Amino acid sequence: MRGLMQDWPMRVHRFIDHAALYHRGARIVSRTVEGGIHHTNYAEIRTRALKLTGALSRRGVKAGDRIATLAWNTHRHVEAWYGIAGAGAIYHTLNPRLFPNQIAWITNHGGAKMLMFDTCFMPILEQVAPLLKHVETYVALCDAAHLPKVKLPGKLIAYEDLIAGKEGRWAEMHENDACGLCYTSGTTGDPKGVLYSHRSNTLHALLAGQTPGLGMGASDVHLPVVPMFHANGWGIPFIAPMAGASLIMPGPKLDGASLYELMESERVTATAGVPTVWLGLLQYLEANKLEFHYLKRVVIGGAAVPRAMIEAFEDRGIAVTHAWGMTEMSPSGSMSAIKPPLDELPRPRQIDALCKQGYPLFGVEMKITDDKGRERARDGNSVGRLKVKGPAVARGYYRSVGGDAFDREGWFDTGDVASLDAEGFMRITDRSKDVIKSGGEWISTIEIENLAVGHPDVAEAAAIGVPHPKWGERPLLIVVAKPGTKPTQDALLVHLQGKIAKWWLPDAVVLVDEIPHTAAGKILKTQLRRQFADFRLDR
Ligand code: ADP
Repeated sequence: MRGLMQDWPMRVHRFIDHAALYHRGARIVSRTVEGGIHHTNYAEIRTRALKLTGALSRRGVKAGDRIATLAWNTHRHVEAWYGIAGAGAIYHTLNPRLFPNQIAWITNHGGAKMLMFDTCFMPILEQVAPLLKHVETYVALCDAAHLPKVKLPGKLIAYEDLIAGKEGRWAEMHENDACGLCYTSGTTGDPKGVLYSHRSNTLHALLAGQTPGLGMGASDVHLPVVPMFHANGWGIPFIAPMAGASLIMPGPKLDGASLYELMESERVTATAGVPTVWLGLLQYLEANKLEFHYLKRVVIGGAAVPRAMIEAFEDRGIAVTHAWGMTEMSPSGSMSAIKPPLDELPRPRQIDALCKQGYPLFGVEMKITDDKGRERARDGNSVGRLKVKGPAVARGYYRSVGGDAFDREGWFDTGDVASLDAEGFMRITDRSKDVIKSGGEWISTIEIENLAVGHPDVAEAAAIGVPHPKWGERPLLIVVAKPGTKPTQDALLVHLQGKIAKWWLPDAVVLVDEIPHTAAGKILKTQLRRQFADFRLDR
């Protein structure tokens, strides 16, 4: 017998409908691309999103059409997501930090006919636009007065003119219809498109909005440092209105000084982003002897969080949630936080737990297997391929559905190598493509890097495998020193000694001025491996 409950199609516009009606007091503050701070609220965002929906429908945008956005986190970008999805179309976020030919490839692959962009990206767009195959209309996210005076191969209109007409109505789409498209940042290979549905985005907001997680309340003031173009904006544009939280959008300025200033002036209580941005912010705080007065929680994910960073926040009384996820998971997978019986442990042991990637959120199934697909023990020692399942996990890639990563039972192979322990904590030891294989055994680059950045003179560190005649590969540690310091190889190796197995100790340490990063702020190991391919360990 089936239950006698209502069918309530899950559509993302419901988030903004809810917030507009019940959370009128929430503040939406944006640092704009034109300069200056803009204030609005959810009701106004909803009205303007409905105007966009109307304008798109009048211009012939149909269900399933892709509309690309090349934009920072601002109120207009949020409106664009809701207006596009509300019209039954699909927002396709583009990462401006990629090379112009990569942006063009991703846009063409997505097939958008319309592209919305922040005017600060005009120099990028001038290079990208001639390469675009499908885009007919360019919408500058500004008013007529700020419309760039350039020629683009297509119509150019100002967003404020586009939405000047009448409000439209949310389209009647099925909850399984697509509403968002985001490409993985290509840290380990070609970018792949993940096509989110109204249902997956709704369920993701509910599951990621748990505590710990991106859980928010109406009294929270959240500043998403993570850009909306990175991994579905971590779902924050849906979670914040669901909770009625105030949303502080940092626009183009993500440096330590600008973030600190906005966090203090807008009384930000919670924030989320990748480790590299916090590195900048913490260094700014240290250099200027500043403290946070309102911040209570920071969610850090996208790459492993070094222990020193967790301690720097926790010592200031700010709770760290270490998050793991993937574009393919909408993106939340697991979150680390202290739970019984860990709450009885001394502080350093609790920090040990926070260094792990945490336990799965409800709605995410997880297991580790060997190469043949046999499940491995959840004993904290066995290491294997991490596989996941859930209603917000992809079951294929856009226009190349299937592929090696998806098996017949619906498990998605994350490409990460991890262990699971009896307490439920997952620990990533590596990405399968980054792991160092020495004498047939695996060495975790993440662990070496995290210990290295615990040295007071180290700003950033990367461990990679370099070819070795006897062992196949041996670890090389690449280090960026903090300004004004010059740590020696011996000092760094002594710092690591006793903290990891002897055979994990890097064979050499090199100091560099800079470590290359991906467009999402992750260490670009592929480039480092190329750069040091000829490195001879006997030097
Ligand atoms: P890309 O695959 O291009 O880097 P994503 O942003 O989707 O794009 O990255 C997902 C990957 O990032 C994960 O598979 C994992 O390797 C890494 N990652 C994310 N969060 C963490 C974390 N907390 N610790 C370690 N690695 C992480």
